[in-house]
Amino acid sequence: MADAGRGGARDTPGVKEARDLVAGARTTVVLTGAGMSAEAGVPTFRGEDGLWKSHRPEELATPEAFRRDPVLVWSWYAWRQRRIAECAPHEGHRALARYTLEHPGSLLATQNVDGLHDRALAEVRGRGPDAGAPIPDRARPRTLHGSIFRLRCSSCSHRQAAEEPVSMGDDPGDLPTCPRCGSLLRPDVVWFGEPLDVAVLEEVFGHARAADVCLVVGTSAVVHPAASVPVATLEGGGAIVEVNPDETPLSRHARVSLRGKAAEVLPGIVD
Ligand code: NAD
Ligand code: ZN
Repeated sequence: MADAGRGGARDTPGVKEARDLVAGARTTVVLTGAGMSAEAGVPTFRGEDGLWKSHRPEELATPEAFRRDPVLVWSWYAWRQRRIAECAPHEGHRALARYTLEHPGSLLATQNVDGLHDRALAEVRGRGPDAGAPIPDRARPRTLHGSIFRLRCSSCSHRQAAEEPVSMGDDPGDLPTCPRCGSLLRPDVVWFGEPLDVAVLEEVFGHARAADVCLVVGTSAVVHPAASVPVATLEGGGAIVEVNPDETPLSRHARVSLRGKAAEVLPGIVD
């Protein structure tokens, strides 16, 4: 296992080994977690800010909490939407966007609900030679835990985009409702105790098993089933490349474990 040392500069030996592995791979799967967005300024669950001081995610991000107090749950999500809307994708998001657009054998799966991979894709495509051309579906991130910028009905199957942060007051009557059945709309994210989308899981795990390389960025690798994606690549005979300033349970299984930050290290690996 190579270790690039903290800060992971572009030409450290670990970066070169990772770059060669990725460049030589026919199929790759990229798995990103909350650390991917840290340098973009997206607050983590247990940061300093507001609502987090008095409420734990495990108490708010559940269907029971939404039934009990939809105003409280929505005020937390509306706050997160506003915070995330103020953040922008960084060089690492853009490097991965270029990589997935240019490599048909790649698939990016993210645990993040912040939409930053999608925004980077739109940015990169908008500036490139194919500006205006639609983004192929295969290059779009597979959102294992949903998106904070999509809404879904709490009763029926209706889903819709929420490009703008939801605006709301203290009255349940101000909350967004389903245009089809009138029930409350909720964020289209996977809450504690809820299953992940089976079709998305099958696609990601199928791809991971066949992948030559799984590039794992900014995840503590403890939330399953997402944390099992790199294991699927390993079991299929592929290699893990990890980017994380800290050691994780995956580090000892990784062919290359780069102790660097996503925005600093990724362009040197995938560009
Ligand atoms: P996690 O918070 O458990 O772990 C984050 C990991 O990122 C840590 O291992 C940390 O060492 C690493 N890290 C920190 N800064 C980094 C950087 N600059 N570059 C690379 N790595 C860095 O995150 P998780 O494993 O994704 O699991 C948390 C859960 O919380 C997920 O289910 C996710 O959906 C959710 N979540 C999402 C967001 C988001 O959408 N941005 C934010 C917070 C939490
Ligand atoms: Zn409905």
